[in-house]
Amino acid sequence: MKGKVLELLKQQPDYISGEEMSRQLGVTRASIWKVITKLKQEGYEIISSTKKGYKLIDIPNSVTPEEILPKLSSNIMGKVIHYEESVLSTNEVAKTLAREGAKEGTLVIAEQQTKGKGRLGRLWESPKGDGIWMSLVLRPKLLPQQVSQLTLVGGLAMCEAIKEVTGLECGIKWPNDIVVKGKKICGILTEMSAEIEQINYVILGVGVNVNTKSFSEDLPYATSLWTIAHKEYSRVEIITSFLRKFESYYNKYTAKKEFSVCLENYKNQCVTLNKKVNIHTSSGSYIAYVKDVTKSGELLIEKENGEEEIVFAGEVSVRGIYGYSDEEKE
Ligand code: ADP
Repeated sequence: MKGKVLELLKQQPDYISGEEMSRQLGVTRASIWKVITKLKQEGYEIISSTKKGYKLIDIPNSVTPEEILPKLSSNIMGKVIHYEESVLSTNEVAKTLAREGAKEGTLVIAEQQTKGKGRLGRLWESPKGDGIWMSLVLRPKLLPQQVSQLTLVGGLAMCEAIKEVTGLECGIKWPNDIVVKGKKICGILTEMSAEIEQINYVILGVGVNVNTKSFSEDLPYATSLWTIAHKEYSRVEIITSFLRKFESYYNKYTAKKEFSVCLENYKNQCVTLNKKVNIHTSSGSYIAYVKDVTKSGELLIEKENGEEEIVFAGEVSVRGIYGYSDEEKE
């Protein structure tokens, strides 16, 4: 109902009367008025005149279903949206929904996370209204050990989406952080529930710093699109572009069940390739040269003694020699 009222307001460059809306939508004028009040509370600027009706002046930069759904061009991803102003973590909400049977493609999105999650229990800073804090419920027919590849597919889709919407040069730091000028703009956290040979559900959590103006001091390697370009970007455009691209890669990947169908595109975006990096493992760190990304999405490295080795996402952290990812050092 809220969506339909908004649609009518957006279609009409001038005033539209409450009577006209109630006629078109088949509801009472009182319920139209209630929806208008709700929209105003959400930040929509609507002026009303007793004679002429209502006129939409400005829309808030929010990520409500009413703003996302009309711009959505995917068929499954994001078709059902669970929106909240503030949550502890979108991954946690998505997990609860998945356990209750939420359909594949269900999107959980919030303006703010008060306990956003990074890998290994780390926190993800998610201030109100500035970024994209969202999680997708997936139910892929894959083996549990293939799920780390899905994270790479997510990173690929988001990297391409950011490029498409902003035109900024970003790249993937293997396996799935997106970096601009050597700093982190997006992180992805995949969590799953599985049995030995079967996945119950996967939650693909994505955090993007879009219009964030500043970060806490202990995040020297964090940046945002605003920090890079000094421009506010539409989160809705990035979200819908991501959902379209992710769906297309996801369909290709799950049909073949092989990451190699995304490999060329992934390598085109990967800034870790052909670089000297620091490989951090639980037992220490060493320097290596990155030779390739394998067809399963692992990293083929050459150690300083000339030995080649394959490293897996989840077992190691890759860092630049001088900083977080050394890309386009200024
Ligand atoms: P890692 O880069 O070590 O693999 P994660 O992808 O799990 O880490 O992300 C968590 C880490 O990212 C945190 O420990 C913190 O250093 C950093 N971080 C937290 N919030 C943000 C943010 N909004 N933007 C960029 N980096 C962040």
